[in-house]
Amino acid sequence: MKKHNFSAGPSILPQEVLLKASEAVVDYNNSGLSLIEISHRSKDFVDIMENARALVLELLGLEGKGYKALFLQGGASTQFLMVALNLLEKRAGYLNSGSWAAKAIKEAKIFDDVYEVGSSKDANYNYIPKGYEIPEDYDYFHCTSNNTIFGTQMKSFPKTNIPMVCDMSSDIFSRTLDFSQFGLIYAGAQKNMGPAGTTLVVVKEDILGKVSRKIPSMMDYQVHIDKGSMFNTPPVFPIYTSMLTLEWLKGKGGIAAIEKENEKKASIMYSEIDLNPLFEGFAVKEDRSLMNATFNLTNDNLKDTFETMLKEAGISGVNGHRSVGGYRASMYNAMPIESVKVLVEVMSELESKA
Ligand code: PLP
Repeated sequence: MKKHNFSAGPSILPQEVLLKASEAVVDYNNSGLSLIEISHRSKDFVDIMENARALVLELLGLEGKGYKALFLQGGASTQFLMVALNLLEKRAGYLNSGSWAAKAIKEAKIFDDVYEVGSSKDANYNYIPKGYEIPEDYDYFHCTSNNTIFGTQMKSFPKTNIPMVCDMSSDIFSRTLDFSQFGLIYAGAQKNMGPAGTTLVVVKEDILGKVSRKIPSMMDYQVHIDKGSMFNTPPVFPIYTSMLTLEWLKGKGGIAAIEKENEKKASIMYSEIDLNPLFEGFAVKEDRSLMNATFNLTNDNLKDTFETMLKEAGISGVNGHRSVGGYRASMYNAMPIESVKVLVEVMSELESKA
């Protein structure tokens, strides 16, 4: 039985993408060669890379606006330091909205002055800080659009004249935004795009080249841009699979179409959390994430019964992160609405049993 996969990441991918990707591992395009044994300089792979990069800009509405899409390595965690290496000359402002944001701050502090313009650490990050100011003389402002662990999501972004850098690891391609308000966007592939092993970076080229430090080649965005995202051997399988997911998304009608589905799934999920007295949400309502719903049981004695029922229904990956506890239902783009309905049925069945 195919499970209902609510994992926070690595997470669910569309079934048709998995099938095509697995075929390519055995024999790419009837070439008699596996995708993972061909040269990354071959026409086959260069075409894949170029198609994937173009699809990213097309889906985000950033074509012809001075942006470049790169598929790098080292996960979003490497971006925590790469952003600072490439953009931090004197001072930067960070929004501390969760553990990943805090990690980004820690890395940037190695290079220069970093200020927290706002923080929600006081309430174990159950809300998005608001009402903060961003000094115009900072080099950039960094935020996290979706806090995967805590289940909060920025519904709006501050207006600022300095470059805005955003970690979109867990909600990229899930909702319509004016993506041109960002100078740099990054995201690990393993939630809404493909397998772990590649990290998407979308950067406006004119924000680069303004720092005085020397940047090691592998850490330098400009080097990767100049080499067409092929400075060294790229992770071909994660990039190919990401390309398939982007094609799948385009075929569904793009971000605007998937956003409607994501809103429906989240609304079914949160209605149950709010109406069922056995559950309570973790994040404050106005900041609830469309991607990761975090919730707890109001009666701990029901834990074993609930978890047995989840298992019997074929539901996997709903345990909350250790820093929050409880449960977390991650509903990324590829999650069918039917799976959310199965989870909600189990929750309401628990209520009728209790
Ligand atoms: N940022 C966010 C918002 C995340 O959810 C994660 C991983 O879950 C990361 C960064 C770290 O990503 P990686 O494991 O690719 O370094």
